[in-house]
Amino acid sequence: MNHCVFCKIISGELPAHRVYEDEQVLAFMDISPINHGHVLIIPKIHYSELRSIPLATSIAVWEVVKKVEYAIWQTPDLICDGTNVLQNNGAAAGQEVFHAHFHVIPRREGDGSRFRFRTINSSEQMRNDWAAKIKDQIDAA
Ligand code: 5GP
Ligand code: ZN
Repeated sequence: MNHCVFCKIISGELPAHRVYEDEQVLAFMDISPINHGHVLIIPKIHYSELRSIPLATSIAVWEVVKKVEYAIWQTPDLICDGTNVLQNNGAAAGQEVFHAHFHVIPRREGDGSRFRFRTINSSEQMRNDWAAKIKDQIDAA
């Protein structure tokens, strides 16, 4: 039995305000929006995190992210001075629903939401080493 809340939205077991849907992807309004017009985009097959989604499905999801982000800019009355496109992977990164999803969040000048990470100290040498290590993983994949 699938306890995933987003799978229940896909199947219709739970209601949602649907914005767009095709064979592979569903977009719907976030139940607890950061601003009016906050939309979530999900693959219709359950994958818990970005790295689990097959590339073809990722591309299909990303096409809808772009479609929704564009539509948000065009929507009358939805004052939109900017957008954040977010995607959290893992509890450490703030993921609460473990069905991979993208957030598209309209932003207004002075809306009071802050989106700022702390920064760490990193030397030229450290960035060079991390670049090489990550590159190794890309080359090995
Ligand atoms: P996360 O922190 O996992 O990236 O974000 C999960 C998002 O899903 C949150 O913004 C939350 O408001 C939204 N959410 C959680 N449960 C529901 C639900 O039942 N329906 C809808 N529409 N959104 C949900
Ligand atoms: Zn799911």
